Order: sequence, then C-alpha cells, then structure tokens
Amino acid sequence: MMRKSVLKLTLVIFLFGSLLGQTPKLPQFKIIPRKAWGWKPPTFTLKPQKIKRITIHHSGIYFKKDEDPIKYLRHLQEWSRSEKHWMDIPYHYMIDLNGNIYEARELKYPGDTNTTYNPRGHALICVMGNYEIQKPIQRQLEALAWLSAKLALKYHVPLDSIKGHKDYAETQCPGKNLYRYLQDGSLKKLIKEYEILDQQKMKQNKVKSIRLKK
Ligand SMILES: [Zn+2]
Repeated sequence: MMRKSVLKLTLVIFLFGSLLGQTPKLPQFKIIPRKAWGWKPPTFTLKPQKIKRITIHHSGIYFKKDEDPIKYLRHLQEWSRSEKHWMDIPYHYMIDLNGNIYEARELKYPGDTNTTYNPRGHALICVMGNYEIQKPIQRQLEALAWLSAKLALKYHVPLDSIKGHKDYAETQCPGKNLYRYLQDGSLKKLIKEYEILDQQKMKQNKVKSIRLKK
C-alpha cells in the first residue's frame, strides 16, 4: 500500500508541477550497454521482428538484495544458450532491484518463452525477482515506465499494447505485486508522463536547432 501511494504522490507532484509550468522532476535513466556486463554475441540469428507491443515480465526467481545482477545476467545468458538452446537471454531488457536497466537480447530479434504465446513483435522487459513474493520499489517502477515510454515513442506502440505476460499466456508473470500497477493504470499514467516529457524535450531541441541554423 505504501509504495502504491508513493507512486500516486509522484504523479500528483508531476501534474501540479505541469500546471505551474515548471519542469517536472521525473528521474531519468541510462541503459547499461551489453558490453558493460560481459554479454557474448549469439552464434546464430533469427528472422528480425518489428516492434508492435511492449510486454512486462519478472524473472520469477527470488532475487536477494546482496546478489550481483551482473553475475546473474551472465549466468542467465549461459543457461539460455546451453539449457534452452535459445540465441540469447529471452528478454530484451533487464531491470535489477535498484532500477538499473541492462540491455539483453538485441531488440531486432524476437524473444523466447516457456509459455504458449508468440513473442514475435514484442519488446520484452524483465524485472529481476519474483513479484508474487517480492515488492517492487519506486525506482524500479520509474525505470520500467521510463524504458516503456522510450520504446513506445520510438516504435509507435500505443499504451493499450503495453501489457503483462499473463495477459497473453497461462502464467503468474510478472507477479501480482508488479501486475497490480498495470491493472490499476498507475504505471501507464507514469509512462504517459514520461512520453509527454520526452516529446517536450524533442520540441525544445527542434526549436534550438532551427535557431542555430539561422
Ligand atoms: Zn514472463
């Protein structure tokens, strides 16, 4: 309940800030590139995909606070290849317990799944941990919203096409404690705010570059 109200409070502050014409303070993120965590290129490729949807997952395995996310990513890549014979980690982006975002499988290739849905056309974001048991922190939700907004703007994905794994297949993924933010609309509101902020920045940059040309 606490975290939910924190998220709501962020939105209220954001909207109030917008009304006053101030720049809202939504935290910004950087994506940690593959080469920073020891990613190894795949040994085969798949037919490229066109992004039409964004789908949220959890890894489903309890993630301890002192666990090293880099070690986990390397292990997950190794396991995906040797055990599952997939080209790479099944997801395109991974978010750790502190809200750090890591690049995983190349977005141009479709993801993989153990369940019965076709992930082709989906950008797959996975939050490390089991959110049937664990609870996401504010920064993880903000990272999720920031990344979803970036992808949604770039690939013209409507808000209605941002969903959880369980909307497509028989699974608990991404876990009830994460899924509820999709269900109650608060995550989508936050995504929308990030989209608006990004579009404003793009407009400002355009104006600046026109001025520079003169
Ligand atoms: Zn999933």
